[in-house]
Amino acid sequence: MKVLISVDMEGVAGIVSWLQDEPEHRMITRRLMTAEANAAIEGALAAGAKEIVVADSHNTMINLIPDELRPEARLISGSARPLSMVEGVDETFDGVVFVGYHSAVGTPNGVLDHSYSSRTVAGVRVNGRRVGEIGINAGIAGYFGVPVVCVTGDQAAAEEARALLGPELVTVPVKRGIGRVAADSLHPQEARRRIAAGVRQALEKEAKPAPLVFKPVELEVRFHTTAMADMANLIPESQRVDGTTVRFRHDDYIVAFKVFRAMVTLAYSAA
Ligand SMILES: [Zn+2]
Repeated sequence: MKVLISVDMEGVAGIVSWLQDEPEHRMITRRLMTAEANAAIEGALAAGAKEIVVADSHNTMINLIPDELRPEARLISGSARPLSMVEGVDETFDGVVFVGYHSAVGTPNGVLDHSYSSRTVAGVRVNGRRVGEIGINAGIAGYFGVPVVCVTGDQAAAEEARALLGPELVTVPVKRGIGRVAADSLHPQEARRRIAAGVRQALEKEAKPAPLVFKPVELEVRFHTTAMADMANLIPESQRVDGTTVRFRHDDYIVAFKVFRAMVTLAYSAA
C-alpha cells in the first residue's frame, strides 16, 4: 500500500494565527506540524502501508523538521512545485491523507479559512461547486484515480471535506473555530492519538470515498478586487464573468489547476 500525506499548518491542533509562523513561534509550529505528520505516518504503517510520501504543504513548504520525521516516510519539501500541496501523487498511490487542513475562504468559524491565497482569492468554484484547498487538491488526486481517505483539521474543514467527499471519508477534527483566529483545541497529544487512529481506520476500511473527478472542468475564481481580476484575465482563453470573477474552461483538470495557480500569482501583482 502506497500513501501520500499532505501536511498544512492551519488545521494543526494548537494553531490559531499566522503569527505562529513568525520567528518567535516558528519552531514550535514546525514541531506541532511534524508531530501530526508522524501521527499520520504511524496510522498508515499500522494499516500496512509499505511506501509513505509526506508532502510539506504550507507556505514555503519547508516546515517539517526532516530528521524528526519518522524514518519510514520520504519527504517532499520546498516550493514551487507543479502539483503544489499534493506533489508526488500519481496513479500508483492507494490513498491520500490531508493533515492540518483548513476550510475554504468565507467559511464561518473556519480557523484561518482561505483558498490558496488570503490576499487575492475571495472564492473558487469548480464545476459549480464551492471548493477550497480540500476540494482543489482532492481533484488532483482524483485526476490520478486516487481517493482522499482521511482529512484532519478544524471542525469546519472536517465538515467541508465530508460534504464534498462523502460519508466514507474519515475526518479527524482537532479543534473548533471561535471565529477565524481563535479556537478551542484538543491537546496536541490527544489530537495525534486521534489522527493515528483515524488514518489507520481510513486505510483499513473496505469502503473508501470515490476519487473526486472534475472532467471537463469549469473553474471560476473570484478575486478581492477588479484589478486582481484584470491581471488573472491575462491568461489566454480565460473569460471575465463579472468585475471580480474570471472563468477558465478546459478538459484537463491539471491544466486548469496550473491556470488557477498562474491566475493567483498574476493577481498577487495587483495586491
Ligand atoms: Zn497553509
